[in-house]
Amino acid sequence: MSTPIGNMADITLRALETLKVVDLIVCEDTRRTRGLLAHYDIHKPLISYNDVNKEARTPSLLAKLSNGESLALVCDAGTPAISDPGFYLVREAVKQGINLVPIPGPSAILAALVVSGLPTDRFLFVGFLSKKSGRRKTQIRSFAEERGTIILYETALRLPKIARDLLEVLGPDRRVVLARELTKRFEQVARTDLENLPETLKEIPLKGEFVVLVSGNTK
Ligand code: SAM
Repeated sequence: MSTPIGNMADITLRALETLKVVDLIVCEDTRRTRGLLAHYDIHKPLISYNDVNKEARTPSLLAKLSNGESLALVCDAGTPAISDPGFYLVREAVKQGINLVPIPGPSAILAALVVSGLPTDRFLFVGFLSKKSGRRKTQIRSFAEERGTIILYETALRLPKIARDLLEVLGPDRRVVLARELTKRFEQVARTDLENLPETLKEIPLKGEFVVLVSGNTK
């Protein structure tokens, strides 16, 4: 189920009701999810599920589900299974024919897209690019012909390198939108193009969480 990407009020009534009645909450970071539960005065057992322990933990979680227990899957922010380890559990549960129920809500992808001003009728979510420049440029080439808006997740510190690679592969004209710290105190949306992106990056704090949107190929 989806949980806030910043603002604690961004959670559905159905998500709160469900968190109160499930047997166990599967989350990425128990400290983070405990903060959310404390805010809503919900007291339920938690188990961590992350990139390090996901393979080891999956069989016992699937066994609980098969025995009729109810589990809620949440991530640190937004919608689980989108660029986070929840996907692994979902895929394994599907393989075993276990019933899954989505409880939709916030995700950084759509929050950023709808304020970007870039076309929303068609978009490609790419998520995190590789940490290695060579591999990253190959990835960028793979979506260079895409007509829809391209959506990337990125960490603040890597943005200057990403900006350089995007410019090198896609050229100077594409529009770029940086959506920073959405729904939080220092929320900021910066709109520029690839040519001016390095300058823009000098003007905004390279802190917090970013979604990067790049306009599609319109030529
Ligand atoms: N599952 C999450 C979702 O539905 O959005 C995303 C998980 S992914 C590990 C985390 C990335 O999402 C961050 O690095 C950032 O790119 C983006 N993100 C999460 N919260 C954000 C926010 N409040 N503002 C901007 N980007 C955010």
